[in-house]
Amino acid sequence: MSEPWQISTDVLVIGGGPAACWAAVHAREAGADVVLVDKGYCGTSGATAPSGTGVWYVAPGATARAQAKPNFFLQFDRRGIDPFTDRFEVDLLAEGTVRGTGGIDVVDDDCATTVPGLYAAGDAATRERICGGFTGGGSHNAAWAMSSGSWAGRGAAAFARGSGRVDPAAVRGAGRVGLRPETTESVSPAEVVAAAQRELLPFEKNYLRHGNRIRPALAELDDLWERAARGLGGTTGAERVQARQAAAITAVGRLMYRSTLARTETRGMSKRADHPDLDPAQHHHILSGGLDEAWTAASEAPLAVAS
Ligand SMILES: Cc1cc2nc3c(=O)[nH]c(=O)nc-3n(C[C@H](O)[C@H](O)[C@H](O)COP(=O)(O)OP(=O)(O)OC[C@H]3O[C@@H](n4cnc5c(N)ncnc54)[C@H](O)[C@@H]3O)c2cc1C
Repeated sequence: MSEPWQISTDVLVIGGGPAACWAAVHAREAGADVVLVDKGYCGTSGATAPSGTGVWYVAPGATARAQAKPNFFLQFDRRGIDPFTDRFEVDLLAEGTVRGTGGIDVVDDDCATTVPGLYAAGDAATRERICGGFTGGGSHNAAWAMSSGSWAGRGAAAFARGSGRVDPAAVRGAGRVGLRPETTESVSPAEVVAAAQRELLPFEKNYLRHGNRIRPALAELDDLWERAARGLGGTTGAERVQARQAAAITAVGRLMYRSTLARTETRGMSKRADHPDLDPAQHHHILSGGLDEAWTAASEAPLAVAS
């Protein structure tokens, strides 16, 4: 992973979970050349690996469980816990705020986004179109991954057919923070991740959300973003991946807290300790975006929620 790698394709699928795999299959069926890349290994990385999606029952024998979901049991094995017989502590880390809804906005039935040629699917895409403002465990998540992946793959193949392949010499990397630091003032990915986690992981900030705690946390994340823009980077491929991951957690945190502050009510999984009631006047999406200049806006159309 330390050498730059150049390849040309019609459809590049980023990720190897069910959404991505279904996208790849459907793009290929639609006649496109497809390359699928994953930062881990398909089936052992991302939400699908520990979730048990599609696994209804696992016999308690070591062989059966290892075959069914190796990653799920790995964390128990590391701690010397037999999950079938031992009692163990459960810590629901921010359950109810960080998963379920939200994600890249999709703007049509092909899961296209506002960026031409970019299609989003699965957990990366908003699931609000099928579940409104509230979801957690449940089959609609995996169903959304597979169905939105299929639509996105077909859509991307159609886009590629219409636009043709771009001359690689004409392509310019747009990624900046974590890849192209502005100064020689160095900050490591580990420092950025630790600083972002200090603002994003504590329950009193990100679960028991209150404007008085979210505002200072957001200010810290905004400062961190500027620091990362100045000095976060890497030389080898592995270092650059780490730097981009550190930039990504900071960017997402900034959009998330801006969206939280923009919704001055409690609705679905969006809970505000300082605004505990539902406000009928806020029956809309909160859109957010931007990197250096992050923004939020209320969507014009009221929410259409699946029944
Ligand atoms: C504990 C738990 C329990 C769950 N229970 C259920 C349930 O009972 N029913 C249900 O329907 N759903 C459940 N879910 C949700 C469901 O598992 C997910 O919605 C679904 O698996 C998401 O699939 P995906 O393909 O969108 O994403 P993922 O499975 O997360 O796949 C994303 C892939 O992208 C890769 N990736 C990420 N970033 C990059 C990058 N920058 N470059 C390259 N590759 C990258 C990752 O390595 C990963 O392979 C559960 C989730 C969890 C965590």
